[in-house]
Amino acid sequence: MRYIDTHCHIDLYDDPAEELSRAAAAGVGIVAVTNAPFVYEACCKLASGRPDVWVAVGLHPELAAKYAHQVDDLIRFLETTRLVGEVGLDYRVTDSDTHNTQRDVFARILRACDNKGNTVLSIHSRGAEADVVSMLGTGFRGTAILHWYSGAIGHLEAAQNNGCYFSINASMLASKNGTKLVSRMDRSRVLTETDGPFAKVDKKRARPLDIQHTVEALAKFWKVESEVVQSTVVANWTSVLALD
Ligand SMILES: [Zn+2]
Repeated sequence: MRYIDTHCHIDLYDDPAEELSRAAAAGVGIVAVTNAPFVYEACCKLASGRPDVWVAVGLHPELAAKYAHQVDDLIRFLETTRLVGEVGLDYRVTDSDTHNTQRDVFARILRACDNKGNTVLSIHSRGAEADVVSMLGTGFRGTAILHWYSGAIGHLEAAQNNGCYFSINASMLASKNGTKLVSRMDRSRVLTETDGPFAKVDKKRARPLDIQHTVEALAKFWKVESEVVQSTVVANWTSVLALD
């Protein structure tokens, strides 16, 4: 494995198996996040026999109200995976009623992960960074990866002090605010992601192979060779998996 895409919605491509094969051929490991518990098992089938694909069970905050009744399923699936995502909060595109439901759902998921102890979570926090960071708190027994973080520097630093990792993508590195945030992240806490197929690269839906763009952009930003970024990020991912 030469690259890691820690946040990709592989089940939402037209031909997921083809995307997975291409990624494997290029040495791209993938965390296949899911948006609702009912798609988790199908995603596991897609990934079966692929050692560098980790399937995460999730409930996207924008779907939390619709699928709140599936939280028990998500918690049950924690018996078969340590990977959880996409979960979190989103206050940007939803109303305040939904925010309450999102917080209830996220709190239940966090509690279950905390009980299990060694989970790795890919967390969405758009517009809700303060609540996400405070709900994780200081003693969470698991590893939180804040995906596409776009909030205030203060919450970023609090999250980092509490042990959070960050998965960054090409869009972040192409924006002024994104690079400002990345500059505050400790290199030992940085992971890479595409958020495909939602995010765009060159106006096209991002694919796992595009992780190479992120690595190159990060190399430019850190003023190091691409290989240094590659090995740093893969080492960071290895240490996430080694945490207990
Ligand atoms: Zn996503």
